[in-house]
Amino acid sequence: DVETAQKTILKRSPLDEMPIPQQVLDRLKNTFGREISPAEAVREIIRDIRTNGNSAVRRWTQTLDQVNLADFRIPSAKIQNALNSLDPALRQALETSASRIEQFYQKQPAISWLDQSMGGSLGQMLRPMERVGIYVPGGTAPLPSTVLMTAIPARVAGVKQVVMVTPPGRGTGEVNPVILAAAAIADVDEVYAVGGAQAIAALAYGTETITRVDKIVGPGNLFVTLAKQQVFGTVGIDGLAGPTETIVIADETTRPDWAAADLLAQAEHDVMAAAILLTPSKKVAQAVQKEMAAWLEGKDDVNLTRTEIFNISLRNRSGAVITRDIAEAVELSNQYGPEHLNLAVKDPWNWVEKVTCSGGVFIGETSCEVMGDYMAGPSHVMPTGGSARFASPLNVWDFLRIISVIGLNPSAAADLGCQADILARAEGLDAHALAGRLRSA
Ligand code: NAD
Repeated sequence: DVETAQKTILKRSPLDEMPIPQQVLDRLKNTFGREISPAEAVREIIRDIRTNGNSAVRRWTQTLDQVNLADFRIPSAKIQNALNSLDPALRQALETSASRIEQFYQKQPAISWLDQSMGGSLGQMLRPMERVGIYVPGGTAPLPSTVLMTAIPARVAGVKQVVMVTPPGRGTGEVNPVILAAAAIADVDEVYAVGGAQAIAALAYGTETITRVDKIVGPGNLFVTLAKQQVFGTVGIDGLAGPTETIVIADETTRPDWAAADLLAQAEHDVMAAAILLTPSKKVAQAVQKEMAAWLEGKDDVNLTRTEIFNISLRNRSGAVITRDIAEAVELSNQYGPEHLNLAVKDPWNWVEKVTCSGGVFIGETSCEVMGDYMAGPSHVMPTGGSARFASPLNVWDFLRIISVIGLNPSAAADLGCQADILARAEGLDAHALAGRLRSA
């Protein structure tokens, strides 16, 4: 029911107070040899990399990813080879996705302008960032789609150097070849096999091998997201795109097997992922639950392999909530501010106007969230943890800086100078007052 849900699955808390599965806490304790919060652990890793550069990157990669990497830069020949050896159908799918992302972002208005109506020329000049780091998750699943969803908007904005970091394969050190092929398609300039908080620290502060960047973008797990939060200020960040979240709003017209698959698609990402169903019908909730169980048990020969993750994520931040009506479901979703909201109801367009807070809104059952993950066009990097209250999905503006242009003509300056003089004297800033007065003469 709604009241219980608001205290449990629909409750928002700061990043470091999110419900953390025991499994994650146990691993932390083993790694650090003491009780430590994820935020403290991340602070320790960042401090070490800031002080000790490459040797600390290697040490943390060994500790957390069980790989001893002498050289973590991936040669460009290896990246090109990965593209050349890619399965043709997979290459075609990546290229279709890349081209739709590019088309979508080319439509996003981003203009420099000058206006002559306020006493001279006033306006804005846009400049792309010089060097941007993209984080591509690879801990529990390699995400080549994320390469495209981050690097392509950066390219469209005109970023000069796009640098990618992604975890080395656990125990093997190898980065998934499809990730490398996607980096070739998206024209990424440098790729490093480093993941987690250590990668974010290396991008923010630089090491002997990795030149520091101006901004870090891209999604990641709790550790990556906390690290981005902690280095903000030294570098820019796009936002907090952490463990994924989906709300599906369903009614009697929703296909339970589709809704079930959509919720499972979210839940398989991470033990901390949230898959939430809101519906006024208990019957619908039960039908969806039944279908989820059926898919998990191998219905239609479907083999869902990430059982360990499902077992935790479906209990940690996920669940079904019976609402009074669809209007209440939309209102609860607005309060929660999910990364994804799917309006899987009859006449979904009727509800779109009511949506005020969500990373993306997926309209109708055919526009399921997985389409947004791979193919639709808009970046799948979206705000989580309730940060949709103030943040937006990754887009071209994340890679642009505005320079304000102030070109007053002499008569406007004369007029405004004496008023600047008055304001400056009110603030007790005498040199300001003088500089303004000189223009008013
Ligand atoms: P990841 O690359 O984000 O994290 C793996 C790294 O985490 C490892 O290399 C390791 O260094 C570090 N790590 C793991 N356990 C640790 C510990 N106990 N202490 C310190 N560091 C530790 O890959 P992932 O784990 O597969 O997570 C991917 C995440 O990205 C998921 O949460 C997924 O939901 C999220 N995601 C979000 C969006 C979005 O837009 N919000 C999009 C795609 C993916």
